[in-house]
Amino acid sequence: MDLPVERWEAYARRKWASLEPCLQQQLSLAVPLGDTFLLCLPLLQPADEEFLHRLAAPNWVGKDPRAALFYKEEGNKRFQKKEYTAALMLYSKAVSHNSPEMSLCYANRSAALFHLGHFEDCLEDIDRAQAKGYPNRLQPKILLRKTECLLLLGRLQEAAGVISKVESKIAMDQSLTSTTRQILLRKISQLKVKAHEKESSPVSVLEALSKTQKDLEFWEENGKISSAFSSVSLNFNSCRGRHLVATKDILPGENLVKEEAFVSVLSPGKSLLLQDSAETTWDTRVTNGDLHCHRCLKQLLASVPCGGCSYAKYCSKKCAQLAWEHYHSTECPLGALLLTLGVFSHVALRTVLVAGFAEVSSLVKQFHEDDKELHKAEARGKSRDETRDSTAGMEGLSEKAEPLIPGCEDDGQYRGSYQAVFNLLTHAEKHSPEHKFLCSLSIVAICKKLREADLTILSQGSCESQSKLKAHMKMSAELSPELKILGEAMLRHMLQLHCNAQAVTAIRESESGDSIVADSEQVRLATALFPVTSLLNHSCDPNTSVTFRGTAVTVRASQPIPRGQEIVHCYDQAVELLMRCRVDAENFLSAEHMLVGEIEDHLAQGYATLGKWQEAARHLRCSIQIVEAHHGPSSVETGHELFKLAQILFNGFAVSEALCTIQRAETVLSVHCGPQNAQVQELQEMRACLLELPRSLLHRVE
Ligand SMILES: [Zn+2]
Ligand SMILES: [Zn+2]
Repeated sequence: MDLPVERWEAYARRKWASLEPCLQQQLSLAVPLGDTFLLCLPLLQPADEEFLHRLAAPNWVGKDPRAALFYKEEGNKRFQKKEYTAALMLYSKAVSHNSPEMSLCYANRSAALFHLGHFEDCLEDIDRAQAKGYPNRLQPKILLRKTECLLLLGRLQEAAGVISKVESKIAMDQSLTSTTRQILLRKISQLKVKAHEKESSPVSVLEALSKTQKDLEFWEENGKISSAFSSVSLNFNSCRGRHLVATKDILPGENLVKEEAFVSVLSPGKSLLLQDSAETTWDTRVTNGDLHCHRCLKQLLASVPCGGCSYAKYCSKKCAQLAWEHYHSTECPLGALLLTLGVFSHVALRTVLVAGFAEVSSLVKQFHEDDKELHKAEARGKSRDETRDSTAGMEGLSEKAEPLIPGCEDDGQYRGSYQAVFNLLTHAEKHSPEHKFLCSLSIVAICKKLREADLTILSQGSCESQSKLKAHMKMSAELSPELKILGEAMLRHMLQLHCNAQAVTAIRESESGDSIVADSEQVRLATALFPVTSLLNHSCDPNTSVTFRGTAVTVRASQPIPRGQEIVHCYDQAVELLMRCRVDAENFLSAEHMLVGEIEDHLAQGYATLGKWQEAARHLRCSIQIVEAHHGPSSVETGHELFKLAQILFNGFAVSEALCTIQRAETVLSVHCGPQNAQVQELQEMRACLLELPRSLLHRVE
């Protein structure tokens, strides 16, 4: 959930209700966000901070040696049962805490990775184990695993080098019993045979080559809007605001925008926030935070933990370093608080950290000056809109009558920069005063915590020396002018998120047991801000569809868009629902309807596992009907169901219906996910396979 945990929300509501009516009135009227923020600043009392502190305690993200040992033991149990994926996850939890047995945790994880066939990652963990002081007596064991990995990866010379190292270790080590020595030597000779066999089979690079070629896609960039294709243009009018329009007739499946997130924050996953009391045992459940890199969202194998907390985990040392440099050094000590305040508060903080203080400060100050101008103009009797347009025109410094569109830089270009993010609409007037108060109070809590923590961010672009600044922060009970600027910007971002947040989703394959038909579900990975994609206005009946790869979004046309038509997009439905009211009857009924569809889907899975293809197909057809009625026949949801049906028909040799279904699934999925999508490719392979079957066989089976 992106909003703060419920108890904090309820607390803020009670606090709002207890405010003096005149103060409530003042807060409701305070239009500039800076004023709202300043008014709320003294309202967060020590008692409130204490409450928040208690609320955050179960989300404690520090490192605990006892937790490391616990997770290692749990991992060993799973490893012995040959449940390597589960063991891997538990060892990853173990290495995210510090313990004297760190090297053993890494070594055990390398073994799990080896069994799962991830040899590169296994090698990295072996190096980590050795860097942490892996015991000498166990060296031969880990070095032999290293040799095996190198052989399997075709790195023969390195493998030979490691083998001779092991041999000399065994020769020198007096403590080895003769049996151990025998076992090791036998293993070595086996590996030598393997190495010899490898040498005679050349390694193919063709696969790697074709993969990079697939990544090269046709890309005709837009001259005015970075990350957008030339088929769209940016327009502005008072009724639609900024919006994107088709400059030519667009076909379904055509790419419209391809953009890297300005900022994204991984959703922590449910189980973390469900815990209510201080924990006595450690949670062995795997959450989103264990499965994906906290920076690039890549699926994690051998995660690299943050040096400071047990929460942040990364896919590589590089991601860990970049995250630390850009934002995590400030966020790390605030871990539990951020988990309590919710992802929106976290995104707001990360946005200002990524932008840097100099950039934030210059835009906030510029905004205040523009606002003063507007007030003066208003006093002269002009409307706000007129003034905005005319001042914008002057900024443009061009002869053209066309005013500069907000968020564009001086050259008229719209780039996915902080300036663009800063100018996203907050719709501050549409939020209830109570809700604005909750957001403000959350941001004030972050600012007060930042005052206590090490403030490296302010040193960027600030002329004051860092140490002087820090001393100043700790001394005064008041927030520094710098923190006030950051607070105002964060509040702005938090309110923007309610209409501009994009849920980054992924299809997660759950390979449960030996199920033949892959079960997949759409999961929410992160919440992100995409300044270009945000230019698309919201519609519940969108003409686009979005897919994600890591932190990058691709927007495609989901239906024909004639030239001149507006391009619209359906924003995060979870947020949409919260924005309106919590439950409306219609949604409730259709949810129930969808439940029937889910049951049919599960029945189909069950029959498929038993190899009863006809039964499975029958239930899946029912499920498809319901999904079609709910999401539409060309929706991505229907596409996924059709994909499952194609798999079942394929496995059941129902050739003609399979070919038909493959065609439908491919059409729908390639529109939404592009031709390189794994499911689309699999469909093509299924078709090729069916078409290759001998004719005689086809007739006999049908
Ligand atoms: Zn990463
Ligand atoms: Zn950390």
